[in-house]
Amino acid sequence: MTRYVKATWTDSCPGCCELVDGQNVNGYPWDAKAKCYVGSGCKECGYTGKRRRTFQYPVDEQEQDR
Ligand SMILES: [Zn+2]
Repeated sequence: MTRYVKATWTDSCPGCCELVDGQNVNGYPWDAKAKCYVGSGCKECGYTGKRRRTFQYPVDEQEQDR
């Protein structure tokens, strides 16, 4: 039996927060609460610089025996 677990978190907006090799070379402000950098704002994120991410991943219940 496989069930799905939903995870939501806040992440930097890929449209306006550009990291180079994971480095914050453009000096975006760090959001300690969301644990991500805040981009300069664009249409995609509603000018907040951050985006709400949702990810659903399957959990195979048999794997809990490992
Ligand atoms: Zn954006």
